Amino acid sequence: MDEDLANKIAAGEVVEKTMSVVKELVENAIDAKATSIKIELVDSGVKEITVTDDGIGMDDEDAVLCFSRHATSKLKNIDDLFNIESLGFRGEALPSIASVSNTILTTSNGKVGTEVVINGGVIESAKEIDCPKGTKIDVKNLFYNTPVRLKYLKNLYVELANITEYVDKMALSYPNIRFDLINNDKSLLYTDGSGNLLKVISRIYGVDVAKKMIMIDGSNDDYKVTGYISYPEKARSNRSSITTFVNNRLIHNNDLNRVITDAYHTYIPVSKFPIVVLNIEVDPILIDINIHPTKMDIKFSKMDSLKELLNNLITEKLSTKTLIPTVEQKLKEEKKDFSELIAKLSKKDEEKEEDKNNNYSELEEMQLDLDIKEEEVPLYNPNEEEKLYGKDRIKKMYPVGLVFGTYIVAENEDGMFLIDQHAAAERINYEKYLKKMGSHDNYKQDLLVPLKIELSNNDYLILKEKMDKLLALGFEVEEFGLNTILVRSHPYWLPDYALEEAIRKMIDVVISEKDFDSYKFTEKIAITLACKMSIKANDHIEFAAMEDLLDRLRETENPFTCPHGRPTIITFSKYELEKLFMRSMEK
Ligand code: ZN
Ligand code: ZN
Repeated sequence: MDEDLANKIAAGEVVEKTMSVVKELVENAIDAKATSIKIELVDSGVKEITVTDDGIGMDDEDAVLCFSRHATSKLKNIDDLFNIESLGFRGEALPSIASVSNTILTTSNGKVGTEVVINGGVIESAKEIDCPKGTKIDVKNLFYNTPVRLKYLKNLYVELANITEYVDKMALSYPNIRFDLINNDKSLLYTDGSGNLLKVISRIYGVDVAKKMIMIDGSNDDYKVTGYISYPEKARSNRSSITTFVNNRLIHNNDLNRVITDAYHTYIPVSKFPIVVLNIEVDPILIDINIHPTKMDIKFSKMDSLKELLNNLITEKLSTKTLIPTVEQKLKEEKKDFSELIAKLSKKDEEKEEDKNNNYSELEEMQLDLDIKEEEVPLYNPNEEEKLYGKDRIKKMYPVGLVFGTYIVAENEDGMFLIDQHAAAERINYEKYLKKMGSHDNYKQDLLVPLKIELSNNDYLILKEKMDKLLALGFEVEEFGLNTILVRSHPYWLPDYALEEAIRKMIDVVISEKDFDSYKFTEKIAITLACKMSIKANDHIEFAAMEDLLDRLRETENPFTCPHGRPTIITFSKYELEKLFMRSMEK
């Protein structure tokens, strides 16, 4: 096959998006042991992509050879594909890129500098020049000779979002490499290459997030896990905030993501995801790698062991922190969630083409935000880590009053607190019901007057099928005429007030529940009952009831969120209040 043709075919596969070009060039730079990688884009890379590194560079011979197919020395045999240390195994990409663009390569190994100019895959010139050690590849007019491909490029901002997400993850993966990502002269990411992962996190997610990250470090016989997890309050609505590496290589594994989000269960709502950056060290024997062109999936042969370790590490950390969100005067905008914005934008695009101009301005605005240089803020220091247990996580709070019949205002020496009375009561009741149901004592409470419950035809048939579940909960029930059951006794721990409602709710759960995983079922009952049995908004409770509620909240295992993952409590610190009222002016 004609080499030029082969290149163009390969380009179709490899150079699917400008993102793949950036990926190839960045990974080549990492392979060349670069400590600094600068990525400059014009119009998301469609007009121009320049990647400059300070790596080992190439000699004059390799500078020319790297553009011919199969010349790569990187991939010697199929086993190299599974060698986790080597990144740039797709050595065919460079000739493919050159075949559909105007490319200039400038490289020096410290002895000789070379410049190679290639247009549409044809080498125009190759000459010796003076240049610093390292490699610079400049790719202009990508796809210029294959105009059809341009049509398939997603729009510019989606492309830019993909590139940004990729470079963000590489920066998280290599905190000791300086990354500099620029689009149309605007900085999108800059890391200092100091090796401090938390600093990289602050560059990507903002200082406010970095201040609310908790260090993770632990191991068992099979795995070692290190990195950072966010406080529940920093949860995002996008799964891409979970970044995982295996032996320092970016991977994507749905099971692993589920283990992580499960560990946050009831700390955050089900539709939200924590910000997590974790590296898992493991003997390669225990993993099975499945390489896709864009992501790497891994199978762990001892998933249960990893699951246990991660779950223990995360829940232990969350249970020893005070997780009350502080209301703060924002000095600057937290870095916006790029992928969320982009998802919104691309959705808009599908709906309306003419929206484009608006989208552009939104994106420009966001880039301006990112341009603001962040001040240096002291971040997490593992030596200063404080662990608090049980009641110590919240100091005793004294109620002051109730606003909107919903929020208890309370105080202590640390500050002012607002407590959502329903969420707080719900947390208390949820843990109570969960405990009672887990205790397996079957004390029943007989009803003086048996309760007659009439169901719809359909519900009645379903319930008859699932009667054992109802009996297992501690009910005594019998059929009673047409579509009706008679409840003779109920689990002893059901509250006397609103008893009928509680029983009806439990029957509803039994009827509607498809998943009879026993923990999930028990939990669903606990959440349903807790929500039903807890004081509501606009329920003007007495002072003593407030005191009692606040004290009992402190006794719970997780006083910070309701079982749905909503916060129960927020705080204005004394310092924040003084700042808001500018009290320092009069000192
Ligand atoms: Zn509720
Ligand atoms: Zn709730």
